Amino acid sequence: MIPPILPTYNRADVAFVRGEGAYLFDEKGRRYLDFGSGIAVNSLGHAHPELVAVLREQAGKLWHTSNLYRVPGQEILARKLIDLTFADTVFFTNSGAEAMECAIKMARKFHAASNAPERFRLITFEGAFHGRTLATIAAGGSPKYLDGFGPKMDGFDQVPFGDFDAAQRAIGSETAGILIEPIQGEVGIRVPPPGFLKRLRELCDARGLLLIFDEVQSGAGRTGKLFAYEESGIAPDIMAIAKGIGGGFPVGACLATERAAKGMTPGTHGSTYGGNPLAMAVGAAVVDIISAPAFLAHVRAMGAHFQQHLAMLLSEHAGVIAEVRGQGLLLGIKLHVPAPAFVAKLRENGMIAVGATENVVRLLPPLIVDENHLHEATALIGQTCAAFETERQAV
Ligand SMILES: *Cc1c(COP(=O)(O)O)cnc(C)c1O
Repeated sequence: MIPPILPTYNRADVAFVRGEGAYLFDEKGRRYLDFGSGIAVNSLGHAHPELVAVLREQAGKLWHTSNLYRVPGQEILARKLIDLTFADTVFFTNSGAEAMECAIKMARKFHAASNAPERFRLITFEGAFHGRTLATIAAGGSPKYLDGFGPKMDGFDQVPFGDFDAAQRAIGSETAGILIEPIQGEVGIRVPPPGFLKRLRELCDARGLLLIFDEVQSGAGRTGKLFAYEESGIAPDIMAIAKGIGGGFPVGACLATERAAKGMTPGTHGSTYGGNPLAMAVGAAVVDIISAPAFLAHVRAMGAHFQQHLAMLLSEHAGVIAEVRGQGLLLGIKLHVPAPAFVAKLRENGMIAVGATENVVRLLPPLIVDENHLHEATALIGQTCAAFETERQAV
């Protein structure tokens, strides 16, 4: 019999009912250290007092009007994002996939509005993840997500991640742009080779292409910069954001330069809920907190600190941990044991982390963590590694 919840997820048999800072509590009152943050979403942890306050305040005023009218909260958050990034304009969505969908449509429309409607294809990278809509599974290219969903939407040409020559070779007369996550998330936290993004920028400029970044996972302060692309010294033409920017409230956005957005005139795109007043109130509070230089410095310091701890764990448990990678608090540990088993054992031990393909466990703590949380996490990961070592010796 089909369960009442469409069974598209392999859910762990645990239900959290309350959260506080970096901790979650389940139905039985058991406490867990949350280093998953709902997959990089709860950037400020759980029940952050300022976010609770702004949401309560907005809830008492107005929930929804429509994009048929001006929405003051959108104007405020858009201005903040514009002042903090390369962008000149913003379209608000409710999710990362919708932000990506807007980015893809915008890239096609740019060329259509530039008398080159034949340019509709995007070059994407192996291991990419851009969402679960028909367009974004085609962009991501993962057979596991495409299987059984009919003809793959045309317009995406995939090349190996980090392979500049392959990207260059893939450009044809129909190419509209290049789409990349500055750090790949879902596949297991993969950082491109140094200078790669800059070379893609130069390639796009030389060939009249748009450069699109998907910072749904890498953005919102997670790497210690407000957006990961800042590290590269270049900027995209279009960027999708979501996850951490809403701190747990559904908020997404597609950011763009004036030039890239030139085809997006009235009537070309829309969303009923996108940029809803509740979402905008929370989003603005999250951006104010995260964009403070001292806050980002804290993320970098905690990231460096945690990476040191993880490097020590790697040397102590080389039979279980193969590699530590990532930037800031966007971290992955590649394992010699199956990631799902490791995540389950970690949870039994009282800590939440998120699996990824390539046998990587993602460590995505809320950005508000302090050194005590990092020590606790390190001890729990060490304890979990030891359990796997004991198991092996027993075999
Ligand atoms: C999670 C994610 C998405 C999809 O976001 P949803 O809110 O689940 O639609 C897109 N791109 C990247 C890089 C992501 O990590």
